[in-house]
Amino acid sequence: MPAPLVTPQRTQQSPIKLNTLKSYYAPELRPLEFQYTKVAGTLVGEELVLDRAGPVSQVVFDGMKCPLRKLHFHAPGEHRIDGMIAELELHLVHEILEYPDAYPSAYLFVGVMLAPTTDKTAPVHALAPWLRGHFDGRAVTRAARDARQDYEIDPSIYLPEDRAYFRYEGSMTTGDTEEIVTWTVLRDPKAVEGPGPLQLDPKTSRLVQPLMRRYVLRNFALIA
Ligand SMILES: [Zn+2]
Repeated sequence: MPAPLVTPQRTQQSPIKLNTLKSYYAPELRPLEFQYTKVAGTLVGEELVLDRAGPVSQVVFDGMKCPLRKLHFHAPGEHRIDGMIAELELHLVHEILEYPDAYPSAYLFVGVMLAPTTDKTAPVHALAPWLRGHFDGRAVTRAARDARQDYEIDPSIYLPEDRAYFRYEGSMTTGDTEEIVTWTVLRDPKAVEGPGPLQLDPKTSRLVQPLMRRYVLRNFALIA
């Protein structure tokens, strides 16, 4: 009798809880080298899709140059860092060009927790007006949702000074939640100006998923 087919389990889902004390310091993790510059993009649905012609922002990840293709936000944040839920979480979607021949993930997602502030010295959150329209709970007309808007943005305004991070293997948090994402979630939040507290629709964020047989690494040591 043939062995029954085993349905593949989904065991590497995102987001997850990230805990400093329950993760493992891996000093061999190399810092991400952000080579970000001003880029142009078009809002398509919930995402800013960056133009492939013209300047490209990228990160150098383990020696691989990974171009930034898209960015989007979740409100409230999806990952929990030491129990904290951020007001906003930015996802910077980088393509791993070496997939699948030399690397098992198709994307490197960088997650950044954002803290909107009215402090005028904070960098201006260039996409704030768009975010407010999407996330303030008012009905957005189909025409407004479908309208394509072009933006120019320097994504480095969203990066905190300290780039300490958690690293784990996971999935997309929307759509078919494919398990083809290497996650790098920055430990420190970034304050950006506006749009201030939002009345958020929690449907834009996925609940935390079980860790299963995974370990979370971090590139920072505990302070003794
Ligand atoms: Zn996302």
